[in-house]
Amino acid sequence: MKKKSPIVGLPLMKLFLLSMSFFLLIQSVSYLYQLAPERRTEIISSITTSSFSTGVVAMAEERVASETDAILWEEVEEESSALTILIKEEDELVEETVEKKTVYLTFDDGPSSITPFVLDILQAYNVPATFFVIGNQVERYPEIVQRMVDDGHLVGNHTYSHRYRVIYASPQAFIDDLVKSEEVLYNTIGIRPNIVRAPGGTQGNVSKALAKILVEQGYILHDWNVDSRDSKTSLVPAAYIQKQVHMQTMNKKSAVILFHDGVGKTTLPVALPPIIEDLQSRGFTFKTLDEHPQPITFIKME
Ligand SMILES: [Zn+2]
Repeated sequence: MKKKSPIVGLPLMKLFLLSMSFFLLIQSVSYLYQLAPERRTEIISSITTSSFSTGVVAMAEERVASETDAILWEEVEEESSALTILIKEEDELVEETVEKKTVYLTFDDGPSSITPFVLDILQAYNVPATFFVIGNQVERYPEIVQRMVDDGHLVGNHTYSHRYRVIYASPQAFIDDLVKSEEVLYNTIGIRPNIVRAPGGTQGNVSKALAKILVEQGYILHDWNVDSRDSKTSLVPAAYIQKQVHMQTMNKKSAVILFHDGVGKTTLPVALPPIIEDLQSRGFTFKTLDEHPQPITFIKME
């Protein structure tokens, strides 16, 4: 087979170089006309004042810069759309969690000397709660009830006397005691709460007749579905309260927890921080009972 002579390749190389130069020239001229008039003048003057190569380099640099910009912009756009998808997915995840797991901390029998500790803890963790206060205790600690409102908590009515023999003597007796507490609350915080927790819960205490009257008068009776059992005896160990809440909130999407911040409940402020942390770590969102979709009542209302 005959080997190709380098002499034969030379005209071909010349032709190639010539066509390349022509191509570059056409490219340069067409590029110049794509530029803004000031930039065109600038480049043309750089070609005429210095050498031709400087002008070509300037144009090449310009082109590379604009192409790099375009590539970078594409990357930014891609990245930002990826980020949007990520944020959207995160939002959906948060929404799912919110929908799925909600906790309502409720405290009965206050206000007492224990309540400020509870309020400090709730403030430190920035979580809201619902306080079912007793009218005669409100008279003793009006400033604590005012702080509940100022801190963004919900105040509910837990009757004035909390004395079972008095309030459950008749439907009218209950209403009278409830309204008395309502007046005390109105004079203290300017609110007449319609959300009520019956002392001891509705089961075995509130008759159907009483429940009917309360509903007709616009009251909302609210029991619970998690009992911290902090009133099992006069003073329950903090670890026991924690364990009860942890166990009873397992597999619950919505938990209304019963606590007591009445006189002498000194283990409550000890139990509360780990309970809040446990619930937070398990994805619970904290809300007040006025956001609860359907009141929990042990007795059948109809
Ligand atoms: Zn109570």
